[in-house]
Amino acid sequence: MDVDIIDKDIITELSKLDLVHLAIAECYDMQSLMDAMRENFKDICRVLDVKSIQCTIDFSTETFLAQPMNMHFVIYETEGPEFDNFCRTHRTPSGESVQVEISYLTRTPTEEQLLKGKSICELVFLSVSRVRIATNLEDALNKDMVTGMPNTRAFYNYGEKLFRDYSIADYCVLALNISNFKFVNQTVPFVVGTSVLIKYAHKLLSFMKADEFATRAGGDNFNIVVKKENLEEFLENVKSIPIDIKDGNMRVHFDLTCYIGVCTVETRMSIQVAVENATSAMTLAKNTPHSPVVFYTDEIGEKQHHANRVRAGFQKGIENHEFIAYYQPKVNLITQEIIGMEALVRWEKDGAILNPGQFVGILENSRSIMELDMYMLKQVCRDIKRWESMGIKIPRISVNLSRRNLQNENIVDEIAAILDEYHVDYKYVEIEVTETVDNDEFKNLADFIKKMKQRGIKVSIDDFGTGYSSLNLLRSLDADVLKIDRSFINLPSFSETDELLVRSIVNLAKAYNMEVITEGVETNGQIKFLLEVGCRNVQGYFFDKPLTKEIVTERLKLGRYNKQYDLE
Ligand code: C2E
Ligand code: CA
Ligand code: CA
Repeated sequence: MDVDIIDKDIITELSKLDLVHLAIAECYDMQSLMDAMRENFKDICRVLDVKSIQCTIDFSTETFLAQPMNMHFVIYETEGPEFDNFCRTHRTPSGESVQVEISYLTRTPTEEQLLKGKSICELVFLSVSRVRIATNLEDALNKDMVTGMPNTRAFYNYGEKLFRDYSIADYCVLALNISNFKFVNQTVPFVVGTSVLIKYAHKLLSFMKADEFATRAGGDNFNIVVKKENLEEFLENVKSIPIDIKDGNMRVHFDLTCYIGVCTVETRMSIQVAVENATSAMTLAKNTPHSPVVFYTDEIGEKQHHANRVRAGFQKGIENHEFIAYYQPKVNLITQEIIGMEALVRWEKDGAILNPGQFVGILENSRSIMELDMYMLKQVCRDIKRWESMGIKIPRISVNLSRRNLQNENIVDEIAAILDEYHVDYKYVEIEVTETVDNDEFKNLADFIKKMKQRGIKVSIDDFGTGYSSLNLLRSLDADVLKIDRSFINLPSFSETDELLVRSIVNLAKAYNMEVITEGVETNGQIKFLLEVGCRNVQGYFFDKPLTKEIVTERLKLGRYNKQYDLE
């Protein structure tokens, strides 16, 4: 080959470097950058007798899978032996290391060849570094930095695109919450828990088909858009996801289950609304045992809407004194004397009267219920003082206390402080607490009752027979009153076993020195039954429904009922 010609060629070809620079400057992601480099370096490499240019990038950032990743690109390669080579490593501003390796076909490359080779290295490094910054920026904007999944922004962008393309109705939108993630965090350190979450996210992604997408919606919540035809398979796949993880030297295994709300998009619906609906359904799934998947319906939507209104209106309701105590008398069946009353809340909201069934459960999901209960206690104290000043004989009045209050260590002090503030004799007040549903709560309840006893304030176990406390646990509770739930008497007829059951409860309660009362007594037949099994105290529509303060004042003035019952 003619040396002169090669030299000249090198010069002209290398002058192309600037042009190459321009061509690759148009690239914003790694793939197109590499393609452009392959395309544009060819001529130069041929002239420089370069056999290969290789580029290796080490992603040192440990964001996604908690392990460094490695990318290897061959930018240029030709047939033939390889001779001298050199290698350059740089670190990009975002922390990755970029290694460019050039090997020549010339046994001993000239100074000039080497020099130009070096400038190719620089050029590659600069371009990779620029593209990495662009992708990092893109990632930061569109990816969840913990799991590497699309973030909410990207998720909604994609959803809006489906909406614009009229194809959103081909999809279901899912809200998914891992049901036992709390257990993971209790079992392994927080960082390991995060790795579990990452693995879980990647498994979710692996179940998804083309044109489906997902995002992490904070914590262990995910929103997923799945084609209707793939829904069944997807739900089957996520039922229980096995995750193996290393915690130090130990291998830990979890089977993660989930709650899912599904919104089947029927007509064109915005992605935001679909996610809201799916989330409402998921919340319901969380609160419904044995039904981890709930499909959104208009009824659920209406409920959610109502719940939102309740939560939003609560504070104003307290300020405007919209919560009113009604009172339902408790009666001794033999004497028909009013032996007590239960305060039951009503909400006078926008001209309507709401029953507790319409709002207490909703408020129980937040601290509001504690505020409401204390508000009711104060109202009862005021009413007691008013009746006292009217010279009316006051029976013991019970106030319902949501179990949520039992998590408050100071609850007993707070109750006593309210009674003291209103100068109410403790003997006039009783606190009703429902049975517990699990062991931890049982301990709280037992502690609560013990402390109340020390204070001299009576406590009753409400809705007995519907919860966790078995008969033999009754003893360790040591409450003053047992309120037998109305389900025990709300029967079309009473069999011998029914009778035996209620009789045993009554006898056991008496043996533990507890007063017994049955609630929800409506009929003559129930009264006859209760007298037979030895329960003398009742509360129920047979005597009165919960009454306003004004009407109950009249009842208290009389102090007793005068009803006829047929005991034959
Ligand atoms: P609960 O404590 O078991 O109260 C008894 C419920 O049974 C009351 O319903 C009462 O009106 C109803 N009832 C009474 N006699 C009869 C009857 O003969 N037949 C029938 N079918 N029902 C009868 P209400 O007033 O709707 O209260 C429902 C629940 O709301 C209460 O159940 C209690 O758990 C809760 N609640 C009421 N007020 C409060 C409160 O101030 N704080 C808290 N935390 N919960 C409250
Ligand atoms: Ca009650
Ligand atoms: Ca009850």
